[in-house]
Amino acid sequence: MIKLYLLLGGNLGNKQQVFAEARTRLEEQVGIISAQSAIYETEPWGFESEDLFWNQALELKTTLSPEGVLKQTQLIELELGRIRKEKQYDSRIIDIDILFFGDQIIKTANLTVPHPRIQERKFALVPLYEIAADFIHPIFRKSLRELLDECPDQLKVRPIDIS
Ligand code: AMP
Repeated sequence: MIKLYLLLGGNLGNKQQVFAEARTRLEEQVGIISAQSAIYETEPWGFESEDLFWNQALELKTTLSPEGVLKQTQLIELELGRIRKEKQYDSRIIDIDILFFGDQIIKTANLTVPHPRIQERKFALVPLYEIAADFIHPIFRKSLRELLDECPDQLKVRPIDIS
């Protein structure tokens, strides 16, 4: 079993329902969710939108390969109604990023792990830090605490109570 970290993100539709459905399908198709952060409301990164994003970090245990996980997460994105657009950053129902896959470093045509922009984005670092403060980034050899301290991103990231 390998421990991996995913980030859910989305800013359209019924976010509570979409996130719950994404977690259910991840448990069915990828592996057990062993830790999950709070849900954070975050300002869009890289474009303007009035629809704030939700983000949540998940820790899962899986027996799948990294490519196998990507295949399943892309299937879940499609099943939950994500329409792929040409623009790089845009509004979306659900985005599932693979942040870390154990301490593996992977670079293929389809997959870059660790996700190449974790360290630039508070919306990824803050939820990840909540569930994996001491995890060491396998390329930078720094903990999430250190990466968060050094991150220049000023966009707002705040936990919300959805109970
Ligand atoms: P996006 O539109 O931001 O969800 O990007 C999806 C594309 O990024 C897909 O074509 C994936 O093959 C690719 N990709 C590369 N690395 C990763 C990663 N670590 N997690 C998720 N998608 C990735």
